[in-house]
Amino acid sequence: MNTHSIRRRAPRFELNGDALCIDFVNTLDDRPSEQPKELLNSYIDLARFAEDTGILELSHVDELMKRSQMDPEGAQRVLRAAIELREAMYAIFHAIMKKETVPTMALAQLNACAQDAAQHVRLVATNRHFEWRFDYSSSFDAILWPIARSAADLLASDQLKFVRACGSKTCQWLFLDTSKNHRRRWCDMDVCGNRAKARRFYARKKKR
Ligand SMILES: [Zn+2]
Repeated sequence: MNTHSIRRRAPRFELNGDALCIDFVNTLDDRPSEQPKELLNSYIDLARFAEDTGILELSHVDELMKRSQMDPEGAQRVLRAAIELREAMYAIFHAIMKKETVPTMALAQLNACAQDAAQHVRLVATNRHFEWRFDYSSSFDAILWPIARSAADLLASDQLKFVRACGSKTCQWLFLDTSKNHRRRWCDMDVCGNRAKARRFYARKKKR
């Protein structure tokens, strides 16, 4: 069993975007409302996202959490960069869904992160093939590399046209429609399919 499959803490994030970068975009909840709910309020939250998504090993998550307490300013800086990256990614996906021009600034921001990420990735031989893997460094932004890469990969792929927003007007979470006939409408059928937002809150609370 690899360390990714051993979980010690209950998951905190709902991961139903079907792509890492999209799950990350959804860490700002209730986007259409006047008071969107920020789910990344500290570097610890960001580290928990890395844990829930399995992009870092648990020992690395723990190490980064510990370091963030020793260097709160450094951690805070990366949290701000993470949120900027997230909003740039949202602006890009939103423009694509609306068939609008992608904002140049947002693309430049994503490119900068993707280029940074590329410095830390290498090919590793596995049993029969090769994989891109990120070198772990105890740098706070190690969490951002796989996220930026995921967005860049999705943008350059033929899957891009399947990025959609949840059909619930009050939700608008993004997801990648990987269903066979590409007719998925909800971020989560049980939570948003035909249900009111109140029920959604209730369902979320119950989940926790
Ligand atoms: Zn939804």
